[in-house]
Amino acid sequence: MEEWAEQLQNSVNTLERLKSVINVTEEEEIAIRTLNTKWGTTPYFASLMDPDDPECPIRRQVIPSLKEKENRYGIPNYLIWKENRDTDEVRPDSIARQYHDRIAFTVTDLCANYCRHCFRKELVVDRNLQLRFDVDEGLAWIKEHEEIRDVLITGGDPFILSDDKIEYLIRKLREIPHIQMFRFGSRTPVVLPHRITDGLKKVLSGYHQVPIWLNTQCNHPKEITEKTAKAVFDLLSCGVNVGNQAVLLKGINDNKETFRELHQKLLSVRIRPYYVFYCEPAPGIDHFRTPVEKGAELIRDAIRGHTTGLAQPMYVVATKIGKIPLMPDYYIQGKTENEYTLRNYKGQTIKWPNIPE
Ligand SMILES: *Cc1c(COP(=O)(O)O)cnc(C)c1O
Ligand code: SF4
Repeated sequence: MEEWAEQLQNSVNTLERLKSVINVTEEEEIAIRTLNTKWGTTPYFASLMDPDDPECPIRRQVIPSLKEKENRYGIPNYLIWKENRDTDEVRPDSIARQYHDRIAFTVTDLCANYCRHCFRKELVVDRNLQLRFDVDEGLAWIKEHEEIRDVLITGGDPFILSDDKIEYLIRKLREIPHIQMFRFGSRTPVVLPHRITDGLKKVLSGYHQVPIWLNTQCNHPKEITEKTAKAVFDLLSCGVNVGNQAVLLKGINDNKETFRELHQKLLSVRIRPYYVFYCEPAPGIDHFRTPVEKGAELIRDAIRGHTTGLAQPMYVVATKIGKIPLMPDYYIQGKTENEYTLRNYKGQTIKWPNIPE
C-alpha cells in the first residue's frame, strides 16, 4: 500500500488513537463522545499538534469542540442556500453555480482532515445533508454548457480519489472543447503531502493547452513543513500552479504577527497566497468567526506595504452571489476634480494629479 493510503487507513479518528498522540482534555473527550460528527486527521497532521495545549492552532482545526453545538449566527441549511441549490436552474447535485463562466464541481465528500471550521460542514462533517456525486453526470452537464470555461474541482478533497479516477476526470475535462483551464481545491499538500506521488505527478504533468491549477488551504504557519515544501515543488515541476485559500479563524490566525508570518512562509515554500476567506455563516462554527472587517484590517496592518507584495491575498466574503472583496479603505483620503490625496501603509499622504474624463 502507498504511504498516503496508509495515512488514510490509520486516520486519527478514535479517542484511543488521539490519546496516543496528545493529552486529550476532559472537554475534548466529552465533545468527541457526545457530538454526532465526523472527525479525524492523518497521523502526519496529528503529529504537528501540540500534545499539551488545547489552544494549539492545528488541534483546534482537528478536534471537535462542544462549542459546535452553539449556533447564534449561523444560517440553517447553509449549503443549500449558499450553493444556489434551490433555484430554478436544474443541475446535478455535483455542480454549484454562482457565475456565468465557471462552476464548482464536487466529486467526493471525503477528506484527509475533517476541518472543524468547514463551511460544508453539513455535508462533509455532520453528514446531515446527502448529495449525489456522480462524476459522469457532472461531466455531461459541463459538456452541454458551452459557456463554462473554468471548472473548480472540489469536495470534500478530490485528491482523496485514486490516481485512476483523477486521471479519468482530467482526461474527460480536457476533451471538452470549451474548457480552458481547471483547478483542484485540495488540502492534501498540507494535511497529507504524501499524496503527491510519482503516480499522481504522472497524471497531472505535461505541457498541455488546458492547464491545471491547485489551491490548497493552509491557515497557520505551523502547518508548513519540509514535506509540504517538497509536495508543492513536485506539483510545480509538473506544471501545476499552487495557490492558497486560507480561512480567517478566530484565535488561530487573526493576529497581525501570525497573519504576516503565514503569508511570508507560504511564499517561502512557493505557494502563492490567493484568497483569505471570511469564515462563513454555516451552523456550528460561530466560535471560529470574527467581525467581517477583521480580514481587511489584517491586510492593512500586517501585509500591504509591510511585506512582499506577492504575499498579499485578496480578502473575500464568499456569498451565494459570488465572492465579494473587502479592501482596506484608507488609500483614498480625498479627491477633487484634478487631484487625489492618497495614503500609504505608514500614514504618509501624497497628492496625485488626476485627469478629468
Ligand atoms: C469560489 C467559487 C468559484 C471560483 O471563484 P474565483 O473567484 O474564480 O476563484 C466558482 N464557483 C463557485 C460556486 C465558487 O464557490
Ligand atoms: S478539507 Fe475542505 S471540504 Fe474537507 S473538511 Fe476541510 S475545509 Fe471542509
